[in-house]
Amino acid sequence: MITTDILIIGAGPTGLFAVFEAGLLKLKCHIIDALPQPGGQLAELYPKKPIFDIPGYPSVMAGELVDNLMEQIKQFQPGFTLNERAETIDKLEDGTFIVTTNKGTKHHAKAVAIAGGLGSFEPRKPLIENIADYEEKGVEYFVKKPEIFEGKRVVIAGGGDSALDWSIFLSNVASEVTLVHRRNEFRGALDSVEKVQELKKLGKINLITPAEVKAIKGEEKVESLVIEREGEEMIVETDYFIPLFGLTPKLGPIADWGLEIEKNAIKVNNALDYQTNIEGVYAIGDVNTYPGKLKLILCGFHEATLMCQSVYNRLNPGKKYVLKYTTVSGVNGFDGTRKEAEKQVVKAIE
Ligand SMILES: Cc1cc2nc3c(=O)[nH]c(=O)nc-3n(C[C@H](O)[C@H](O)[C@H](O)COP(=O)(O)OP(=O)(O)OC[C@H]3O[C@@H](n4cnc5c(N)ncnc54)[C@H](O)[C@@H]3O)c2cc1C
Repeated sequence: MITTDILIIGAGPTGLFAVFEAGLLKLKCHIIDALPQPGGQLAELYPKKPIFDIPGYPSVMAGELVDNLMEQIKQFQPGFTLNERAETIDKLEDGTFIVTTNKGTKHHAKAVAIAGGLGSFEPRKPLIENIADYEEKGVEYFVKKPEIFEGKRVVIAGGGDSALDWSIFLSNVASEVTLVHRRNEFRGALDSVEKVQELKKLGKINLITPAEVKAIKGEEKVESLVIEREGEEMIVETDYFIPLFGLTPKLGPIADWGLEIEKNAIKVNNALDYQTNIEGVYAIGDVNTYPGKLKLILCGFHEATLMCQSVYNRLNPGKKYVLKYTTVSGVNGFDGTRKEAEKQVVKAIE
């Protein structure tokens, strides 16, 4: 059993920054995410796009912002349960919670902060009748461990950044990479499209467009694909089929936790602390809703900060909390009390 003060569901920017704010208050955090890496939408959907509305950064790549958030929270040593979806929640008599994942990992926490964004991302699957029979038998919707493709034949389908980037990356790992897209034009970044064309010329990527994978064949695992191009069918032998058609967000199991939901988002008390209708369970970032809600990273950061203050007050009844500046207290030398804050201010003035 993993134990923590605040269990954060979702390792997007909101969940990651919550670890920092909790750390300032000496609260331990553990994060669960259904994806194999932290960063939420920034890592999964647009790591190479610049963001222009993060205070103090005229421009920052989404992937770089995630790296910086990870660096900022490292000092507080959060725990991570990645690649697992938070499935059920049980409130114990003492007001603490047990959250269990789809893989059975149990987490015991004094408070739960749902920072689930648009929900847990599920891969958008192609409409191929028997595709489910080949899942984990050659059909992969994510490239979690690129090394498994070493020396193997791989067919990637899709026209966005993921399909292009992984085709480029795997052209140095797999023995054969084929990229199939239903149009001649790609939606991804121009430099990635140019790189794919260059690798095609060098014979390192086979490009089949405009075409679609219509069927999967194989006894025990994927052995070949039926690909249709302009009305003609061809068979391509392969070890792996990786359809990268994006992700569909789903609130998923959280929708059944007894929370008040409005338009696929969790209603919270925004006048106070972003707590839900279940005491001790908060919802922050894109996952919540309240009058005037804006789904922006900056708003998630603000909500995470107030949530942490509320948890601190809940767990330390009667202890007077004094707001501190990190410029005065640093990140470690403060226990939240007035006496300690005064000591820090005197030190800073000296
Ligand atoms: C293309 C694009 C461009 C954008 N540009 C900007 C911009 O310029 N500025 C800006 O402020 N915002 C921008 N946004 C919006 C911004 O990305 C979101 O506001 C932000 O990601 C919300 O962060 P979050 O941490 O609340 O949620 P998310 O980033 O969505 O992260 C939520 C995480 O929770 C996980 N999760 C959900 N349910 C579960 C579960 N049951 N178990 C385990 N894990 C779970 C998900 O897997 C996900 O990793 C953009 C969004 C997109 C798609």
